[in-house]
Amino acid sequence: MSSVRVRMAPSPTGWIHIGTARTFLFDYFMARQNPEGKLILRIEDTDQKRSVPGGIESLIESLSLLGITPDEGEGFGGEYGPYTQTDRKEIYAKYAQKLLGEGNAYYCFCSKERLEKLRTEQESMKQKTHYDGHCKKLSKEEVKTRIDNGEPYVIRMKVPENENIEFTDLVFGKISFSTNEVDEQVIIKSSGIPTYHFAVVVDDVLMKITHILRGVEWLSSTPKHVLLYKYLGETPPIFVHVPLILNPDGKGKLSKRKGNVAVLDFFRAGYIREGLVNFLSLIGWNPAPELAHKDEIYDIDFLTKNFDAKRIRRASGRFQIEKLDSINAVWIGRLTKEELYARVMQWVDLVMTNNVVDSLRGETDELKAIRGKVSKLKSYFEQNKVKATELLGVTQQRIKKLTEIYDWLSVLWDDSGFDNDSVNTALPDVEKRTEIIYNLREALEKLTTWSQEEWEPAIRALADKFSLKHGDLFMVLRVIVTGKKISPPLREFMEIAGREFVSKRFDKFSKI
Ligand code: GLU
Repeated sequence: MSSVRVRMAPSPTGWIHIGTARTFLFDYFMARQNPEGKLILRIEDTDQKRSVPGGIESLIESLSLLGITPDEGEGFGGEYGPYTQTDRKEIYAKYAQKLLGEGNAYYCFCSKERLEKLRTEQESMKQKTHYDGHCKKLSKEEVKTRIDNGEPYVIRMKVPENENIEFTDLVFGKISFSTNEVDEQVIIKSSGIPTYHFAVVVDDVLMKITHILRGVEWLSSTPKHVLLYKYLGETPPIFVHVPLILNPDGKGKLSKRKGNVAVLDFFRAGYIREGLVNFLSLIGWNPAPELAHKDEIYDIDFLTKNFDAKRIRRASGRFQIEKLDSINAVWIGRLTKEELYARVMQWVDLVMTNNVVDSLRGETDELKAIRGKVSKLKSYFEQNKVKATELLGVTQQRIKKLTEIYDWLSVLWDDSGFDNDSVNTALPDVEKRTEIIYNLREALEKLTTWSQEEWEPAIRALADKFSLKHGDLFMVLRVIVTGKKISPPLREFMEIAGREFVSKRFDKFSKI
């Protein structure tokens, strides 16, 4: 068999649904596990309503966030271009002529009104709506006269009666459809633009696609496509229809109403490439049992090497955010602190820079909230690169998403308050409280070096002096320094944040 050639075929809407991203990842794994495999980006813009300016660039950006770089396609060159369907109109016209010439397609002049009436009638008789073949009977002469008179027309594919169309899908197995179920689909619209069904077949043939991976919603259109392959004298590629991804509650397709579903939204929400790729590939798929890891942590190389489309499950998979969070946490934990710093800065840019999706839907409340936090984080991180990197190093085992960095570290740049309740509980005696805190500050100020080795015994000695539990005094210190009861590891945090910072926090605390 010729080498694997797979295609990603989005419409230039400017954003990629997270479910589509999973299919594209499967494409990517298939192309990359084969030394000569090729991944192609084809832009399916026959439905002009779905095209937005800048849409293609934005799609490519989302792909690159996932680490997917096409080998060929729009913006990437290749021998089989053009790779955007509206640039291929003449090609489709030529193939439509072939079908017409061989009696496998016909001109149709039916008006919108007639088609609508037909649909209403069929609906009222509870029939599946379909074209009734009205124009199939027109003579060649009549067709010619009507075209010459400038009457608008479409071209429809012919579908024979009482035949069976069979094909095998790698996921769904053998599928058989009666041609009586198949509509005589328009292949060229009155504008001269092909429909998706025709363009997809012509392109997959000419671009020598070997495997079609796409959403299961296209399975019922595949018989039409198989018939078109036959008319073009071609053998269909291997079909791989990928099941839906459901909302976390298992109800319905993962949808916008239940949160943001664009790939970009997930990156903005603080997920990283390794985490998202690992998580997405496990929705509806898993590696063979003998290869599987108990913790389900797989890197991109593993997935590329061991992906097997035959193991895609038929059942729809749920989108489990908790699972994504815990996988992402592992991958954040595995980065070096320098890598993490770079990821944080990349994330900050994604959040702050307007994207095509923002002009489509406006700045969402979620984005507004993230942006408010991120702008301050950004300037602190830029001005204190070394310190910020060290701080990330002591925090990274505790965060699931990059967005949480703000909650852990914002005390460094935001004038946040103090969890006074916790201090009051640990030091219930009001008079003693002031004295203890004064002593705590003094003990820290007396230190000659600013290192953990020195504080720890000093604080323990102080706790003993006031008959306090050591843990309680450390907690008080934690609240004063970080504002919260739960914080990054205190000793490392204090060491990195520095003496001056800690002293300022004591100043602030004593003022309230
Ligand atoms: N353009 C189609 C879509 O956006 C692609 C379907 C296919 O891959 O054949 O869903």
